[in-house]
Amino acid sequence: MIDEGRAAMESWHLPDEELRRYGERTLAPPVLWSVEAHLTACAHCRHRLAAGQPAVLRDGWERLDAELDAPVPGAVERLLTRAGVAGHTARLLAATPVLRLSWLAAVVSTLALTAVLAAVLHPVVFLAAAPLLPVCGVALSFGPRADPTYEIAVVAPMHTFRLLLLRCVAVLSATTALSAVASLAVPDIGLAALGWFLPALTLTLLSLALTARLGPVLAAACVGLGWIAVVVSTRGAGATGSTVFVPAGQLASAVAAVLAAVVLARIHRAFESPRRFR
Ligand SMILES: [Zn+2]
Repeated sequence: MIDEGRAAMESWHLPDEELRRYGERTLAPPVLWSVEAHLTACAHCRHRLAAGQPAVLRDGWERLDAELDAPVPGAVERLLTRAGVAGHTARLLAATPVLRLSWLAAVVSTLALTAVLAAVLHPVVFLAAAPLLPVCGVALSFGPRADPTYEIAVVAPMHTFRLLLLRCVAVLSATTALSAVASLAVPDIGLAALGWFLPALTLTLLSLALTARLGPVLAAACVGLGWIAVVVSTRGAGATGSTVFVPAGQLASAVAAVLAAVVLARIHRAFESPRRFR
């Protein structure tokens, strides 16, 4: 039966008119069905269709090609877009190095290590280390050496300063969330386990304010070393190991954060010149 059917199909071929209308997609059922059935079985007519309709085929391939080449937004980008962030902003944010899995993994392992050291040695290890994470993250997020999207960022139709702030928010949100979880590992000191939060904000703002003058890497290094010097020089016998983490120290940190924010607001135009970051 099958051989008979095939033999019958090969004994006739689709008329040129039907083939042309099939290629133009203007055929209606039931003629369309019978043409498709014939094309499935007849290589000769498939060749005729391909030869007669190069434009239709090429268009089809081009559409497929464009679909395959279209960038697929990552999980972070999709999440940001769903949260109402504009598409181009979401893409720039998602390209922030700190939001990449490798950097988040580095942050998590640093926090885990300091939490263990805090449990074994002293809580001050964790409290002193956590504020340094966003500072490193910001330096990584805005350095021409570290950031593969740096050139895009500089020519993007968005102010460099706004992009810097956007990325700072992204970095701070990520490190704050992770540090908050890690704080559970130092339960002995109660709420003081969150003493890293204000210093993290202060150090990030300070390093931003210095970035305009020193560049992101040197600014982060200065702020980091300065912070370590402050923690060491204010060390005490209390549960947190340093007066930075008692209420008076937290107040001083908040004042410093406000001052850094004021300086930042005054000098923000300095960020619009890309040469500052070379
Ligand atoms: Zn045929």
